[in-house]
Amino acid sequence: MPDLNGLTGRQQSFLQALFPGEDYLDAPEKTCVYGTDASRRFVAPWAVVRPRELGQIRELLRWAHQEQVPLFPRARATNVVGGCVPQGGGVVVSCLGMNRILEINGEDFVAQVEPGVITGDFQARLREPALYYPPDPASARFSTLGGNAATCAGGMRAVKYGVTRDYVLGIEAVLPGGEMIHTGARTHKNVVGLDLTRLLVGSAGTLAFFTKLTLKLLPLPPAQATLMVGFKSLDLALAASAAVFRAGILPVAMELMPRETLECVAQIVEPLGPEALGPKALGSKAPWPEATNALLLVKCDGRPEGLLEDLALTRRALEGVGPCFLVEARDPEEEDRFWEYRRLINPASFRLGKDKISEDVTLPRSKVAEGIVGIREIAGRHGVPILTFGHLGDGNIHTNIMFDASDERQARGAGLAHDQILDLVLRLGGVLSGEHGLGLTKRKHLERQVGPVERGLFVLIKRAFDPHGIMNPGKAY
Ligand SMILES: Cc1cc2nc3c(=O)[nH]c(=O)nc-3n(C[C@H](O)[C@H](O)[C@H](O)COP(=O)(O)OP(=O)(O)OC[C@H]3O[C@@H](n4cnc5c(N)ncnc54)[C@H](O)[C@@H]3O)c2cc1C
Repeated sequence: MPDLNGLTGRQQSFLQALFPGEDYLDAPEKTCVYGTDASRRFVAPWAVVRPRELGQIRELLRWAHQEQVPLFPRARATNVVGGCVPQGGGVVVSCLGMNRILEINGEDFVAQVEPGVITGDFQARLREPALYYPPDPASARFSTLGGNAATCAGGMRAVKYGVTRDYVLGIEAVLPGGEMIHTGARTHKNVVGLDLTRLLVGSAGTLAFFTKLTLKLLPLPPAQATLMVGFKSLDLALAASAAVFRAGILPVAMELMPRETLECVAQIVEPLGPEALGPKALGSKAPWPEATNALLLVKCDGRPEGLLEDLALTRRALEGVGPCFLVEARDPEEEDRFWEYRRLINPASFRLGKDKISEDVTLPRSKVAEGIVGIREIAGRHGVPILTFGHLGDGNIHTNIMFDASDERQARGAGLAHDQILDLVLRLGGVLSGEHGLGLTKRKHLERQVGPVERGLFVLIKRAFDPHGIMNPGKAY
């Protein structure tokens, strides 16, 4: 007989025996935190288990497959689309107990890690041997390598270095039923068979449970610098961005903050005073001159001599377009102060509304201007503030629709604006998500972008890995 939480007494006893002590939780006051993630959706888990070793995961997946009990893999739950929420009920499987760095090999330029390792901790461990793992989502200080792999996390360095998928060489994973697969290899080249590693990266916990990752490393670039540059118009900023690429420079990161975003950030910068964050030369109120209507942050790295040359070329390209100011930071502390403006966008955005629809649409670079102008028109039409900003270098423009959900008119306006933005992005040849995925909250939009034949293939692939649909059901596709 199923009891109230969806598991029978026999099933609960099985899990308790497999996960002794506090590694099995079913009291609502202990499990409730595992029912949500950064999407702020909530569904109470039936139970939570915290495996510490491979054998437990194999046994769990054998049992769940046989009993047809849904499993919801979870790491630090920083995904913003409900990817960890146990919608429909089931057992949440936390992988934070599997958090060892198993190997860092500077000869093969390879590392082996368990999925629960915090990305920032891993990056820090690589500094001393002068190695480098480029994927750097803004959540790196608290998200995990396993979660990053399951979502194919991006980040600002994607312009030059690509995304998580480009650095996962192989995955050890457990399938529903308990069988194991070892995809890929520790070589940087491998074209044997179908590329299951690339299929698993970004699969959002829907196909298999990752238990070990083999990651590709690079040598650590010894020098880096950031240019902060303001323009009188968005068009000039976009022309400057194109000029940088035309000059043959591939920056590590190129971030855009248009007028609405600058005004919003200024609201929380001004009380801090201009010297608190920016160079004194930049003005009295916000740390950029009033004429600034669009700001670019451009980061370059490399060997010191090469970096100087790249900086000179980048400056020349930017100055050719006529900026209203340009400042350069070469020491990490000063650079960090420049990047603080970018980090302030999220907290500042809530000055415009207490609720947010956050999109991470991606456009072909040549369509970014049209996209931002179109989004501004949509904002005006529906009377809701919309911030656009972000990864200009790869066209991944973050779009935050700010509103008050308790105000019916605003909530309706935000919903209509959201719908029209997604249509606009697809019309311009863009995609619905460049980083966050569709998870639970955006899955309903899948068919806008993906045709029925492709969608049918998704279903067949899911069935091949997970015939009973127990792995993170209801997510992504
Ligand atoms: C402030 C903030 C900034 C962010 N910045 C970025 C950014 O710059 N770029 C970006 O791409 N994202 C960003 N994100 C989103 C989020 O951080 C990423 O999606 C991240 O990769 C999630 O990692 P996590 O460890 O929190 O995983 P979780 O959120 O716990 O899980 C993510 C998904 O992976 C699955 N999963 C977890 N572990 C496993 C496993 N062992 N096996 C199989 N499936 C598993 C889960 O079921 C879930 O579907 C940001 C989020 C926040 C809150």
